[in-house]
Amino acid sequence: MKQPLSDFSLSELAEIVAEAGEKKYRAAQLMRHIVAYDSFDEYTDLPKTFIAYLKERYVDRALTEKTRVTASDGAIRYLFETTSGDLIESVFLPHGYGNSVCVSCQVGCAMGCVFCASGEFGFKRNLSAGEILSQILYIVREVKDKGGVKKVVMMGSGSPLHNYEQTVKFIKLVTSKDGINIGMRSVSVSTCGLPDKIDMLYKDGFSGTLSLSLHAATDFKRKKIMKIAERYTVKEVIDSLRRFFDNTGRRVVIEYILIGGFNDTEEDAVGLKNLLKGLCCHVNLIPLNPTDNCDLKPSSKKSANEFCKTLNKLGLSATVRRSMGSDVAGACGQLKNRTVISERKKNGK
Ligand code: SAH
Repeated sequence: MKQPLSDFSLSELAEIVAEAGEKKYRAAQLMRHIVAYDSFDEYTDLPKTFIAYLKERYVDRALTEKTRVTASDGAIRYLFETTSGDLIESVFLPHGYGNSVCVSCQVGCAMGCVFCASGEFGFKRNLSAGEILSQILYIVREVKDKGGVKKVVMMGSGSPLHNYEQTVKFIKLVTSKDGINIGMRSVSVSTCGLPDKIDMLYKDGFSGTLSLSLHAATDFKRKKIMKIAERYTVKEVIDSLRRFFDNTGRRVVIEYILIGGFNDTEEDAVGLKNLLKGLCCHVNLIPLNPTDNCDLKPSSKKSANEFCKTLNKLGLSATVRRSMGSDVAGACGQLKNRTVISERKKNGK
């Protein structure tokens, strides 16, 4: 299959340009066009012969929009189709202090967390850096009149550190001054916690925000909801966050889904506090977003607020996250799953 041009860095574009026998400055021109347009036909200042050369070898558009839903709070959930026919989701999140985009990095997910819709149909494949970047490029063009996009969060479907190479390449592309130029500090990577990859990430130059999907403070409880807990202990994962902080000086984010009667008691709060002792972090409490295939229940608003207050009293920085877009298939993967299921029904499968 042909690669999208958005897969390439400026130096790689320079190689493509040289191979095609074109002038050097064409590489920077191409980079600008990749950001500005999604069709070769709009690259009007390039020689026709060069456009034909590019068309033969590459694709201009990594993704096409299949459908979208807009939530009452202004969040827009996009369903995109890749050139291979796979479906992925991305979300535009409007904020007064700067809009953000949430991207997917894999088709499906291999991590198998029981509460998560993205892994419901298993893992299919990694997205390339350009396929990840193209989600942002598309949305940025769409929301120009809404104040653009300041922040990027890798919190869509898939596990960024399980697609390590393309994630690192994507971070380089999205923060490149020659490209869309998002500040490194405005990039967040969310992970279920792969300690060896966390160590590689800061060594490879990532100094954005690292979020850990912790969700339980003991191995016993975490194993009940996250398959990855069979492989790494919470201590191993938290220790890797300590090294991340020591090397980057960046406060980390602990994501903690509140599941009614499972992880939202005072004892859980104390356990969490002890586990995180001395780590520079903020705890993001997320009331569970119920998915079609899982019978866990969210904590009540009251228990969520109490849990948060207990953490604050214990000296932890914690807030309950306002969930955006939840009236339109809020949890990652739900829009895709519903589309796939309804198409299967239509086709009688
Ligand atoms: N794959 C990444 C990002 C996942 S989505 C990761 O593993 O971190 C961002 C956050 O939402 C994660 O903390 C994830 O665990 C959480 N999440 C997943 N399904 C959810 C659901 N049904 N309700 C609430 N949060 C959920």
